[in-house]
Amino acid sequence: METLNKLLSIDLNYIVIALFVVFYSLEQILETQFNFKKRGQHFFHSALFQIVFLIGNLFWASVTIFSIEWLNRNEIGLFYLIQLPVWLKLVLGVAMIDMVTYWFHRMSHKVPVLWRFHRVHHSDTTMDSTTYFRSHPVEILFWFGSSNILAAGIFGLDLLTLGLYFLVATPFFILEHTNLRFPAWLDKTLGLVITTPNLHKVHHEQDQYYTDSNFADVFILWDRLFGTYKYKPVEQIKFGLKEFEENKKQTFWYLFISPLFKIKKVT
Ligand SMILES: [Zn+2]
Ligand SMILES: [Zn+2]
Repeated sequence: METLNKLLSIDLNYIVIALFVVFYSLEQILETQFNFKKRGQHFFHSALFQIVFLIGNLFWASVTIFSIEWLNRNEIGLFYLIQLPVWLKLVLGVAMIDMVTYWFHRMSHKVPVLWRFHRVHHSDTTMDSTTYFRSHPVEILFWFGSSNILAAGIFGLDLLTLGLYFLVATPFFILEHTNLRFPAWLDKTLGLVITTPNLHKVHHEQDQYYTDSNFADVFILWDRLFGTYKYKPVEQIKFGLKEFEENKKQTFWYLFISPLFKIKKVT
């Protein structure tokens, strides 16, 4: 428990930076899955998303802390009704946050106004570890941020559990987008339970049949359980969205304001 507390006391931003530096460097020196030019430009536009996110999070993090502390003070949620060992509550809590996120993500593909924000993440035609940063801040903060508060309210989770979730999920978020080769046997073993990079890449395929699959961030189990699991060999995947393929539609500013536009889905 003490080790866990120590781990959670590390600012998540340092973990993100460390993981990012490792994987971005590996992408430059190892044999990568896909080759693409304009890496600097790609990095720049993704980094701008992260900067806006960090500014917004200064506000949103306090909303999250205030809301979850209030829920906990009033003992709201399922885990307050049953006696469970602390470690089990933590493990189940992480799994439950991932399940609620799965449903929020699935809704983002179904509800048009939510898709307008979520398509920013899917628009990347040349995916690498910086794609992790490329999500609309409104979506990450208000939509997925609310899913964490909701999960805490339904299951009675505390900030320690949420911290642990981010500690577990962040390496997944980054790894899932890296432009590195991962063997198929990983998908047939670990991929039975957790989301491997190749399985998340299926979610970034242009063909909507595959885009609407593999929604889970950490446990692909949710897709298997709720009928949205799909597989396609990674070397056959074409990333992005057809309606965002033009170069000018790959810039931070265009993507940032793109939720304001009705953009027809090209199939
Ligand atoms: Zn998605
Ligand atoms: Zn993704």
